[in-house]
Amino acid sequence: MYAIVDIETTGGYADNHRITEIAIYHHDGKRITDNFRTLLNPGRKIPHFITGLTGITSQMVEEAPTFEEMAEEIHSWLKDRIFVAHNAHFDYSFLKKEFDGAGINWQTKKLCTVRLSRKIIPGLESYSLGRLAESLGVRIPDRHRAGGDAHATAKIFSILLQRDDSGIITKALKRNSGETILPPNLNKEDFDKLPAKAGVYYFLDGHGQVIYVGKAVNIKKRIAGHFTGEAREWNRSNIRNEIHNITYELTGSDLIALILESQEIRRLWPKYNLAQKYKVEEWGIFDYEDRNGYLRFGINIISKGTKPLITFSSKGDAWNFMWEKVKEFELCPKLSGLQLAKGLCFSHQTGACKGACQGIESSKKYNKRAQKSIDSFFEGGESVAIIGQGRKAEEKSLVLVENGSYLGFGFVHKDEAVLNLETAKNFIKPGKENRVVQNLVNSYLLNPKGAEVIALS
Ligand SMILES: [Zn+2]
Repeated sequence: MYAIVDIETTGGYADNHRITEIAIYHHDGKRITDNFRTLLNPGRKIPHFITGLTGITSQMVEEAPTFEEMAEEIHSWLKDRIFVAHNAHFDYSFLKKEFDGAGINWQTKKLCTVRLSRKIIPGLESYSLGRLAESLGVRIPDRHRAGGDAHATAKIFSILLQRDDSGIITKALKRNSGETILPPNLNKEDFDKLPAKAGVYYFLDGHGQVIYVGKAVNIKKRIAGHFTGEAREWNRSNIRNEIHNITYELTGSDLIALILESQEIRRLWPKYNLAQKYKVEEWGIFDYEDRNGYLRFGINIISKGTKPLITFSSKGDAWNFMWEKVKEFELCPKLSGLQLAKGLCFSHQTGACKGACQGIESSKKYNKRAQKSIDSFFEGGESVAIIGQGRKAEEKSLVLVENGSYLGFGFVHKDEAVLNLETAKNFIKPGKENRVVQNLVNSYLLNPKGAEVIALS
């Protein structure tokens, strides 16, 4: 009824790597009944450090059959059996990928001996196969080879079956996929308690160190999304094994979730945010003088060492902003970076451009208006409160902006009137000066979704 499996591979991810050895132990719920093992030719060189770990060399698998050649037989060993492995997701994802490649549709219930051991034998310092086996007095003469590790896993599974007085294995099977899709070191109960609300969430490792920060309109749904079969990068990266705990901070509003996420990533520098090359793209409007003395604008991504006049979090925002200025100050869209195509500028035909792009209007006259538009970039920022959902029903959230500059966010009772800037300041925790957050707020104000924007006196 059970097939206990261990594989060796050419590397850590099913997407990029192949199986080099597989061992399968059949178990009838009482004892081991049969076993099978084979080396497999992965069709590529095995990296030296992997050989160092498993002892499987490229020469050893050269003469071995390929997975395709063995697919039918391996399938017959797994078919109609519950799949059991230590960190089941790893082995399962590789096998699934290999079967898919061989045109065999294989799907089955899974049990993970890491997760089961944590529940049935709680309180151990480590649940790695080697340490767990040692704690339970199971010897592994052939550690890091599929046969040795699968045999040890089978013996551990026998012990788990014996010690499982409260039906944990049956329960895990009933929940089926929900059980093993969660990271092996994460408590199902902790996951179940997550709120279906907006906020920022933190993944913590075994030492309580934050390893990832994310934001979501629905924390529970978002996190569940990380751990489904489709979330490839998550399932195949080591983050799954490192997550021991999840904490969160409710924000009510989606804008505050954005702001807080950005601040927390910069405060904590979690390693998996960095691994994802977390980078907020910033766009800027730049000014320069061309060879004919005309003041021009360009819209570009901001790189190190460049000094834009003003920044935005998307190209579209920068573009829309400049477009308004071109209309207001009758500038040429070509000279303002809005038209990259050759030929006459678009608005010359409509009359808004006074001909600077053709030398009809003098640079002196044109630059006066262009300079006035630059001055207008920085004046007239409004003081507003962006009112959004609170963390609970009787609350609302506010983000304060003074003369265009982000001040901070806070929460108040939903009946509290927010009309005046000075009193509103009492409701917020002041934020640090931060261009990235300022850009987030600027962009949000251009498209405030469901939030209410109130002008403050
Ligand atoms: Zn023009």
